[in-house]
Amino acid sequence: MSLESELDRARELDVGVLADAIKSIGFECTRCGACCKAAETGGGEDEEHTATVFPDEIRELRNGGEYDHRDVARPMPYGLTNGPDGPEGETFEWALQTDGCNDCTFYAEDDDGTGACTVHGDRPLICRTYPFSVAVEGSSQPTGEAVDQEGEVRAHECEGLGRDIDREDAEELAAALKRRAVRELEEAIGVRENYASADLGPGEVAIHDSEGAKRPDGERIDR
Ligand code: SF4
Repeated sequence: MSLESELDRARELDVGVLADAIKSIGFECTRCGACCKAAETGGGEDEEHTATVFPDEIRELRNGGEYDHRDVARPMPYGLTNGPDGPEGETFEWALQTDGCNDCTFYAEDDDGTGACTVHGDRPLICRTYPFSVAVEGSSQPTGEAVDQEGEVRAHECEGLGRDIDREDAEELAAALKRRAVRELEEAIGVRENYASADLGPGEVAIHDSEGAKRPDGERIDR
């Protein structure tokens, strides 16, 4: 299957049908924060939070320049290698920036441990649609095996699954899920079309997104 034909499939997804599937699986966010925090590995050191964020979402989160690019996003570590001075090499996605605890930089917890997203209204599509994905090749799947599937909708491990959801909320989630699948495929096609080796030197990192090759500070690499 080509990315283009998968993009056609994503564009044809019926939001009403996706909403039916979400309603039948059931979901309500318990604000446990599991999808915003470092993953516990059991080995002492937690695995840093990695959630894909698109270039236009990074601009949104920078809020008109209030935040620097690096405050919001970092190179997705997959594909990078550990050089003598830190990570180096090429990667093909941006990840939400993490804090000193390896949680998402936008995650905050009340004293009683209730989690909250400090950019809730502007949170990226991957966050809006957690813990769901669609069964379209080339669209990303949250970490963790799918634990349920209804039609084209897959549900990934999350304690909020199985809870009642309003039809209106299910439709909103379904619309975001479709938007995400379309956006992911458009991004993948853009990355493929714009890719040119960044000809990196030692210790350098390039992030190839749909707008071209960039440095970790978001500036374009023009070579
Ligand atoms: S942006 Fe918000 S919802 Fe998304 S991972 Fe960060 S804290 Fe969680």
